[in-house]
Amino acid sequence: MITIHEALEIVRSHLPPRSVEEADLPRAAGRALAGDILAREPSPRFTNSAMDGFAVRWEDVKTVAASAPVQLKIVGESRAGAPFAGRLESGQAARISTGGMLCRGADTVIPLEETEVDGEALRVLKAERAGNHLRREGEEFKAGELLLRQGAVLNPPRLALLASQGTVKAPVYRRPGVAVIVTGTELVPYHAPAESWQIRDSNGVMLRSAIEKSGGEVTFNARVGDRLDETLEAVRRAADVADIILFSGGVSVGPHDLVKSAAQQGGFETLFWRVKQRPGKPLFFARRSDSLFFGLPGNPVSAYMCYLFYVQPVLAHLQGKPFGHESFEGEAAAPIFNSANRAQLYRVALEGRPGRPPLVYPLARQGSHMLTSLTAADGFIHLEENVRLESGTPVEVIPFT
Ligand code: AMP
Ligand code: MG
Repeated sequence: MITIHEALEIVRSHLPPRSVEEADLPRAAGRALAGDILAREPSPRFTNSAMDGFAVRWEDVKTVAASAPVQLKIVGESRAGAPFAGRLESGQAARISTGGMLCRGADTVIPLEETEVDGEALRVLKAERAGNHLRREGEEFKAGELLLRQGAVLNPPRLALLASQGTVKAPVYRRPGVAVIVTGTELVPYHAPAESWQIRDSNGVMLRSAIEKSGGEVTFNARVGDRLDETLEAVRRAADVADIILFSGGVSVGPHDLVKSAAQQGGFETLFWRVKQRPGKPLFFARRSDSLFFGLPGNPVSAYMCYLFYVQPVLAHLQGKPFGHESFEGEAAAPIFNSANRAQLYRVALEGRPGRPPLVYPLARQGSHMLTSLTAADGFIHLEENVRLESGTPVEVIPFT
């Protein structure tokens, strides 16, 4: 049996290549850029006013500071979206609003508060500097400048930046297509009546939401009984539409555990089966060209922990992010030990502390058939075999997100 480190290395060394698509901005939200973005246009696009006030010629008002107010004639208006059509001549001013295009002939804006208006007559009371209160074309960036780097995640402001450039589609990594197939003759849909010997399928909804949270897209969904023909049919159909195939259940050693055989008959090459870990020992991993196949154990806790530890990093990689786990340091609040001779993905609860690493509490309930061992947890730690961590020890926590 291989170790958890070896298993993760095998997954890492079989990562499929990323693929890129041009996505409409709303669909690109939250995704990583597959290429650098250069400015198509300068920003601001045109020189405009930063204030509500008057566009003037500095030559006309430069004496205001030293001596008396200056009188100008108001000859028009430049509003945001409706520029002044003419050209400002000496002795003239135009009303201008914030965002309004600077009129031809003008070079300075006087804020409304620094003027007095009487009909068409404008008295300029204060004039501080030539070119004041303008947002100049290209002052933020020029056409051709680097705006966003490859790998940048398109958060709302970055989407806004693309929109401001008139960019309709952005190059992003394609969302991985994932198939979810739950196996088990005992399973019924959670919304159907269940006989006393039956089990409601809870892994289906758990895995689906986990995949969507990881940025993947569920492209195939099925529930099959413990029969080779049904299982093989699901493998074939899933392989047509998914980059990653997730099976739940049917990977142990029992006579009704048929997922490995079905994968092999479907043309998948086994890369490993069984890992020295708890939970999730029977984990099965295979591939066929660029498609990866994970046979997750059926116990809900095992299925989820194997998903977080092995599958989520693959989905991150395919979306332009690093293959790995987001983690932070906490501090053991009580002794945490693993006397087993296999590693544990050990569920913990966290207690935040201002300015200090959070306290990490080991949860007493670690049974792989107990969903409450997940629902009570905030994350997990990777605990090596035969270790004991005293309270106060720093520990690396992988949070449930
Ligand atoms: P298996 O890995 O198929 O041996 O399943 C291990 C345990 O997990 C059994 O008790 C199953 O009934 C249970 N199980 C399997 N699949 C699911 C599922 N989709 N939802 C809830 N429990 C499941
Ligand atoms: Mg089963």
